[in-house]
Amino acid sequence: MPDCEYINKCPFYNKEPGDTPRADEVLKHLYCHKDNSKCAIYIIVTALDFTKVPKEILPNQGEIARMIVEELKMLE
Ligand code: SF4
Repeated sequence: MPDCEYINKCPFYNKEPGDTPRADEVLKHLYCHKDNSKCAIYIIVTALDFTKVPKEILPNQGEIARMIVEELKMLE
């Protein structure tokens, strides 16, 4: 699959390396460069927008992302 279309704007993809740079690289490989459809950030951005993405959420937290989208949509 092609790279995720949000790579240039994504806070996770563009953050400074933290305590787990190796883990971040694995997540980027699996989600950003392979399959973004299950990425937590992608799920929130496509359903809502970047302003609703929690600062600490990781691509592999898709279940949390779906809960955030459901709850925020109920508030609309
Ligand atoms: S796959 Fe997820 S983490 Fe990667 S660039 Fe897209 S939205 Fe960001």
